[in-house]
Amino acid sequence: MSSAQPAGTNSTRKYQLLIDGQWVDSQSGKTFTTPNPATGETLAEVAEGDKADIDNAVAAARRAFEGKWSRISARDRGRMLYKLSQLIEEHSTELAALETADNGKPIKESSYVDLPQVAENFEYFAGWATKIEGETIPVPGEMFNYTLREPVGVCGQIIPWNFPLLMAAWKLAPALAAGNTIVLKPAEQTPVTAMELGKLIQEAGFPEGVVNIVPGYGETAGAALAAHPGIDKVAFTGSTEVGKLIARAAADNLTKVSLELGGKAPNIVFADADIEQAVNGAMMGIFFNQGQVCCAGSRLFVQADVKDQFIDRLKEKSAKIVVGDPMDKATNMGPQVSQEQLNRVKSYADIARTEGATVVAGGECPTLTGAFQNGYFYQPTIFSDVKNQMRIAQEEIFGPVVSVISFENEDDLIKQANETIYGLSAGIWTSNITRAHRFAKAIKAGVIWINTYNMFNAASPFGGYKQSGYGREMGKHALEMYTNVKSVWVDLSGKPIGWFGK
Ligand code: ADP
Repeated sequence: MSSAQPAGTNSTRKYQLLIDGQWVDSQSGKTFTTPNPATGETLAEVAEGDKADIDNAVAAARRAFEGKWSRISARDRGRMLYKLSQLIEEHSTELAALETADNGKPIKESSYVDLPQVAENFEYFAGWATKIEGETIPVPGEMFNYTLREPVGVCGQIIPWNFPLLMAAWKLAPALAAGNTIVLKPAEQTPVTAMELGKLIQEAGFPEGVVNIVPGYGETAGAALAAHPGIDKVAFTGSTEVGKLIARAAADNLTKVSLELGGKAPNIVFADADIEQAVNGAMMGIFFNQGQVCCAGSRLFVQADVKDQFIDRLKEKSAKIVVGDPMDKATNMGPQVSQEQLNRVKSYADIARTEGATVVAGGECPTLTGAFQNGYFYQPTIFSDVKNQMRIAQEEIFGPVVSVISFENEDDLIKQANETIYGLSAGIWTSNITRAHRFAKAIKAGVIWINTYNMFNAASPFGGYKQSGYGREMGKHALEMYTNVKSVWVDLSGKPIGWFGK
């Protein structure tokens, strides 16, 4: 990557917009800055796209879709995606460092979780490019009916800041495999790695205009993209609140929409579980990525018989979590992504106290020194004595705050677990195999983890029920979001149609 500078230095990086294969300033000439959340220092200055730039990007994506890209074979699309996955692997050390510098996630996570999964997604969908097929349908009479599976066209993709590069990969890889063109809007908090990805996309040989990347604010660039009459589909990952705005904006043009939104996942521990494993799983469920995960196991249901023992062990182990410099390999938890996010977490801790929950651990900002005293850090936080109706159990906090709720038996549990507007994911810890599968059926959520948590693979679908959204990312299901089915009828009889006479 030509303009790469070592991440974590004080020098400010600069990025332009990627439109029609060119790196350009925004029409307004405006820029915005993105801080390193561990220190508050400016990491990069980025061109600020808005409606005018979105218009240009959509026009470029349309030209590419109707032109060059439509003439490129599926095999070549696959080869470009594969090349891109290899380039990402080659540059994974710098990309992981930049992801950590922009988002705050520990380098251990960006290096060993985010980057490998980014490469995996492009590699997986590279294989799909040549396997997107229609069908022949056994219709009656002397007729031949077949389907074509075609790209939907120009896709607007709006992504969040919690897994900046991985969310770009989840969206771009299936869309490109299916032959679409794209206008991608990264989150304003974390635009840096998407812009670096743009350079690798060019290097992988994608023609100009196939992928356009326009960073900017949600209310301006994002809103203009969602409402744009020139796009055929909008794909969004982010909060349920903004998801509703996107769906409303898209409704005016009846643009196709897929939404991957918030969650308030139940992570459930039965007394017959391996408690040590369940404690590890509870921590993985809520503290991974500083709790900024839509499928975080934020409602921790623990069966009453083991509750005290479980909480003691959870407290003991959580106390060992190292919060601090995210660039340090020994760190388990970095800062929240922004001051705004930190304020949100703090306000929910206050709400929890007012609602009568008990602080078991955390509940404050840690005291860090030196460069990190201005970072947006929060302690791993555990509240017990939470009731499922409380706001901290119903509203998405998106931070390292878990609510422990006690339950008596399975019936009582299933009812409470489903009492939420969300339905993204759920976890269960038990040694009873029939209970585990009964639970998997009974919970209204798109992903269920049994004796594990936060497992992902490019081949496995991910997405929500209820207000957690619709559509599925990854796996072959993602291709459905990026293809249209066309039905073609052919008369084989050669006879005139006699319906209205000869
Ligand atoms: P969070 O609440 O987790 O910060 P958001 O849902 O606000 O996440 O943001 C996710 C993405 O949606 C970001 O890229 C953001 O810029 C974008 N966004 C925010 N508001 C709007 C909007 N009104 N229209 C379109 N996109 C938006």
